[in-house]
Amino acid sequence: MADDAQPSRIDEEALHTYSPSVQLNLNIRGLGLSATLAINERSAALQAEGRKISRLGLGQSPFPVPDILQRALRENAHQKDYLAVQGLPALRAAICRYLKRTQDLDFDPEDILIGPGSKELMFLVQLVYYGDLVIPTPSWVSYAPQAQILGRPITWLPTHPETGLGVTADALRKVCADDPLRPRLLILNSPGNPTGTAYTPEALAEIAAVAREHRLLLLSDEIYGGVQFDGRHQSAARFYRGGTIISDGISKWAGSGGWRLGFFAFPKSLAWLRKAMAAAASETYTSVSAPIQHAAIAAFEGGPEMELYLQRSRAVLGALADHVSARLTRAGARVNPIKGGFYAFPDFEPLRNRLAARGMTTSAQLCEALLEEAGVATLPGSAFGRPEHELSLRLAFVDFDGASALDGLAAGETLDADFLKRHCGRVVEGIEAMARWAEG
Ligand code: GLU
Repeated sequence: MADDAQPSRIDEEALHTYSPSVQLNLNIRGLGLSATLAINERSAALQAEGRKISRLGLGQSPFPVPDILQRALRENAHQKDYLAVQGLPALRAAICRYLKRTQDLDFDPEDILIGPGSKELMFLVQLVYYGDLVIPTPSWVSYAPQAQILGRPITWLPTHPETGLGVTADALRKVCADDPLRPRLLILNSPGNPTGTAYTPEALAEIAAVAREHRLLLLSDEIYGGVQFDGRHQSAARFYRGGTIISDGISKWAGSGGWRLGFFAFPKSLAWLRKAMAAAASETYTSVSAPIQHAAIAAFEGGPEMELYLQRSRAVLGALADHVSARLTRAGARVNPIKGGFYAFPDFEPLRNRLAARGMTTSAQLCEALLEEAGVATLPGSAFGRPEHELSLRLAFVDFDGASALDGLAAGETLDADFLKRHCGRVVEGIEAMARWAEG
């Protein structure tokens, strides 16, 4: 190497002598891995050390990728070309038929934008829309950090256990009263993560009226819609058509989180926003993996095989939700009624004195002790925007072999307590361990 090449080495060293905090974008400072993904990696590391861990941290579907999707993916392995930025036209058309069939809503393929998981699309919408983020406490762990990364102000809506810890029209009205026409993006998640709440049509209509009055942009996160236990998920778009974007994908109801495929459906009135997002997409992820897009068509087309898969998934999750609620309530926790998805959000407040005597006064301490002492991985309420000292946590009742549970139902087994022990044993054991530990 020539002598004059030496300075570059010195420069490289110099780069590392600055404090990282000086070189990082202000908005990202202090952010670690997203809580859901961090607990997953920590659980895996503990298991690798030989510890027995109930993995109730990350919320991913316990069920297998439906055979019909697996076959379609094999058949499309050869698809090699970049696809249109907005997504494969045939997939967008299938999504329109899905929205018509499940919600009786009319969309054209041009209204649909496909993304690498709805999470990325949520980031892009916050990037291109210049408004405050409005979310209930508790909310999914990533909405607020995305806003923080982008430097958007966040308004947390207070919630109440009586209304399932969800958004209420009253709380929304109060927030909007201060600066009524300020641009705001409200995210509504039904059925919800972390609470399992599903909004009633009446509640959606009331929220929609406030949203319309204040011209809010409503992002309706319906990623758990397909696993609402009664099979009757209703989209918020039915109540506020012109201002609602539907967000959905195949991660939670088609066992395909790792496939990374989500979509947004826009009303015509928001075509300008869709175009801006497509522009941002074209400069970042380009388009979603071609084989995955081709294969995903089968999930949205539905049909008897998909329908049976969905019915059985809902039945198993509904039975597990009942079991989790009943056992933790018996242990003394307050548990919100769970209407869909695979989460419970128990609050151990009634046990505060006993837990405080054992050194736990925050949700972070609660989850840390639960993991260390009982081997149960969960996430603290504080990761979802709850006050640090509230003794709430989120558990995802997904640590089981969903394929065996679906096979059990297909073979005509009765969905009772024995079924849950047989097919969802690790969850049942984990909940038992949590309950006994809390009763401690
Ligand atoms: N949505 C899932 C959860 O809340 C995990 C996926 C993610 O956070 O990216 O656990």
